[in-house]
Amino acid sequence: MNEKIARLLNEQINKEFYSAYLYLDMANFYDEMDLDGYKNYYMIQAQEERDHALLFMEYMQTIGLKVTLEAIGKPDKTFQTILDPLEVAAEHERYVTALINAIYHEAYEDRDYRTMKFLDWFIDEQREEEDNADKMVNRYKLFGTDAKGLYMLDQEYAGRVYAAPSLTL
Ligand code: MG
Repeated sequence: MNEKIARLLNEQINKEFYSAYLYLDMANFYDEMDLDGYKNYYMIQAQEERDHALLFMEYMQTIGLKVTLEAIGKPDKTFQTILDPLEVAAEHERYVTALINAIYHEAYEDRDYRTMKFLDWFIDEQREEEDNADKMVNRYKLFGTDAKGLYMLDQEYAGRVYAAPSLTL
């Protein structure tokens, strides 16, 4: 296996755990504001990111690559307004898409078909993540600046339930 692809896969485990950490930080921010729906949304988002990390780890295991777990960075974003985490999340998901695309590019160049196939799920997932994150921003801007609108959005996000990833290895 191409060393660069192996390194990028291993790094992605860390990036996904960092994403989980970032979303937990957002959940704490909303908890302090008693916006329990937004908190719930990001608690579940964090679980999904942990799942992503484990999928990368398990993929490496199944193809006999050594996994090296590194320190997870401290979430370093500061949030002042209700909108801030939503915008940070949207920006962060675009960054993650770029990371996935970069691994895909290396796999493509190396004709590493099984890594490309593994990453296909993440390509779809990132489309969905960006779409969801952009909706969180736009719906807040449309409805959230009104107290009743914010209450209804918060109620809606309280209904989000965790679902295990559709990808199994
Ligand atoms: Mg992810």
